[in-house]
Amino acid sequence: MEKNLIKQNALDSEKIKNDQFVTVCSRCGFEVFPSAVEDYEYQCFFHDEDLYSIETKVISQDEYLNYLAKHFNCSKEEAIYKMNGYRKYVQENQQDYTMSLPEFCAIQNGLSIQKM
Ligand SMILES: [Zn+2]
Repeated sequence: MEKNLIKQNALDSEKIKNDQFVTVCSRCGFEVFPSAVEDYEYQCFFHDEDLYSIETKVISQDEYLNYLAKHFNCSKEEAIYKMNGYRKYVQENQQDYTMSLPEFCAIQNGLSIQKM
């Protein structure tokens, strides 16, 4: 079971090596998501603000993962896990208050500590 999970994660990280890009907030560097507000293109959940595209920048996914690994002091594999988990969370929580990525990770860490 655990071996299968590791295999699956390895496959996922393979997929992510393809040339993909991430749109991030120019100020905090975290990924931005489509805004729910007309006239704005993106929203940053870290700043809890809507943004114009000039307030964002597009970087390679590789660069973004390096940024996350540095920010959270974790491996790149863990950064992929955080990024994917957070994207899924954002997709599923569009109506409610949306946590920023650091908040989301703090809660994830809390949960994994409890399980141990
Ligand atoms: Zn921001």
